[in-house]
Amino acid sequence: MTESDQGPLKSSSRRSFLGFGAGLAAIACTAPAGRGAAKERSQEGTVGRRDYPVLIGSVNALPGMQKFYGDLREGAAPLDVAIDVVKVVEANPDDHSVGLGGLPNEDGVVQLDAAVMDGRTHNGGAVGCIENILHPSEVARLVMERTDHCMIVGRGAYEFARLHGHPHTELLTDDARKLWLEWKETHSDLDDRFAPPVEEGKQARNDHGEPEERVTGTIHCSALSTSGEVACTTTTSGLSWKIPGRVGDSPIIGAGLYCDAEAGSAGATGRGEAAILAHSSSALVELLRAGRSPVDAGLEVMARVTRQARRASVWQPGLVDEEGKPTFNLSFYVLGLDGAFAGVRLSGSSEFAVSDPEHGPRLEPTRAYLE
Ligand code: ASP
Repeated sequence: MTESDQGPLKSSSRRSFLGFGAGLAAIACTAPAGRGAAKERSQEGTVGRRDYPVLIGSVNALPGMQKFYGDLREGAAPLDVAIDVVKVVEANPDDHSVGLGGLPNEDGVVQLDAAVMDGRTHNGGAVGCIENILHPSEVARLVMERTDHCMIVGRGAYEFARLHGHPHTELLTDDARKLWLEWKETHSDLDDRFAPPVEEGKQARNDHGEPEERVTGTIHCSALSTSGEVACTTTTSGLSWKIPGRVGDSPIIGAGLYCDAEAGSAGATGRGEAAILAHSSSALVELLRAGRSPVDAGLEVMARVTRQARRASVWQPGLVDEEGKPTFNLSFYVLGLDGAFAGVRLSGSSEFAVSDPEHGPRLEPTRAYLE
């Protein structure tokens, strides 16, 4: 794919946002010293700061955006709104990829990963493999704001959350338990378990009676406030049926999310191992810093991920097909300081959620790196 066909997903001819002047005034009053360079660079562009405020994230962020975009427009802090958005899904028992109702690990235990990052302070916090806590995104924020650490995992994360008043919550719903049990009963012919009758099964099966595909998912949300400040969060129950203790990209700052007040914000969902090995979110933000558009940055990192997967396939052949195309998927959500944004997917069609002053909360098609 050449650079010439990597044009911006969004046109720059968007309606002015009423709060534009107020936003600039707020930046002038509150911007920390490090924001100077970003301000200059942004003001050089034709889009300027008219497109504030913006939320971007994975498709499951839409309900939260619909509920909380108004707060961002009214001047709420970007991290507050990003966390409010993802909490809607953390508490939703019908979303099997995050929080309550999330699919468990191979032992049937729901283990959650989450992280937050705040561009205003360039600080981040994360929890990994936390159990029985409904809102790991809030606990990640507590790690950032109430400790000198960036990440707390496992039992320590649970105890830390309890100390701060988070209640013990059973996260394995009956539906998720049945999906897990069906996986357990069907993933091997070499054990003594029988598959449930087809009519009782919850998952689509292939011709061999095996569940059709492994369920994955995560929620990411990046926010750009009326005063041009960025923040982001990513929260997930991770890969279904994972090895207990496995941590994906979501709580790893630089992999599942990253933001910098001088460059922008980004996040990833999909195969966490690929996002970790490419350090994808920090790579995306670095490309923004270098002046690349969000869609260019996304396509560039997808190209890297593809080359890396081809090299890795020497020892892990299933990672790419016979044409060298990765057999997994990955999505990026990229947000520039000027309000330009893009959703980029490794292959195939999909959507991402976005909300800006012009059109409000909606789904948009992602740009695919490979068809
Ligand atoms: N990135 C998540 C993980 O690897 C999973 C996903 O987004 O599907 O844990």
